[in-house]
Amino acid sequence: MTPGIRPLIAGNWKMNGLSADIGELEAMAEAAFGGADALICVPATLMTRAHVALEGKLQLGGQDCHTAAAGAHTGDVSAEMLADAGATHVLVGHSERRTDHGETDGIVADKAEAAWRAGLTAVICIGETKAEREGGKTLSVLSRQIPGSVPKEAKAKNTVIAYEPVWAIGTGLTPTVEDVAEAHAHIRKELETLLGEEAGKMRILYGGSVKPGNATELLSIEHVDGALVGGASLKAVDFLAIAAAC
Ligand code: PGA
Repeated sequence: MTPGIRPLIAGNWKMNGLSADIGELEAMAEAAFGGADALICVPATLMTRAHVALEGKLQLGGQDCHTAAAGAHTGDVSAEMLADAGATHVLVGHSERRTDHGETDGIVADKAEAAWRAGLTAVICIGETKAEREGGKTLSVLSRQIPGSVPKEAKAKNTVIAYEPVWAIGTGLTPTVEDVAEAHAHIRKELETLLGEEAGKMRILYGGSVKPGNATELLSIEHVDGALVGGASLKAVDFLAIAAAC
């Protein structure tokens, strides 16, 4: 954690969730989030129902947005549409988008600007692959991704950074405490170079196999200002246990 920064626990349902799962969101909305803000990023198909189920107690996010506000882009969703459906946040540049859809740092930066245009907070995802980690390139990858994916106009009130080592996502593997601390300190330094003073207030989340059993340890690391949680955000009981670690 960073003194003065209120942590954010963000859930990412990915391509999971049907009408039958709305009860999990209702259960989350019944809980108290004393020590942290909470956010759930649901598939576009559930956005409107999730907005009702969460009753404003948790914030609501999309998982991607197009760069345009509207138009001839079959199958895409704009940031304006997400905002209209009740979203306050949107993930941009998740590694699954970068891999499955060839999203580059430049596209991710454009999507962050689209999010701001619609009044949303952009959760900009970065992180190294397994080969990059094993090649000792983690910090240099982050040094490339930050100025590439984070527009210079980013402010702490409209931008969250999520550090997700790609090899830790959905694998049950996590970096050591020392490696997380090193990566997050490096991200803060790179943000300072890019954004100046604003960087000191910006949330930097850790993501990748965060579970109730490791949340306390991960969230106690300096410059870890919350978590981006995939698999363990699908069940209210797990997500609430992680949030309680703040
Ligand atoms: P995981 O996913 O918690 O299932 O590893 C995290 C993410 O991809 O956001």
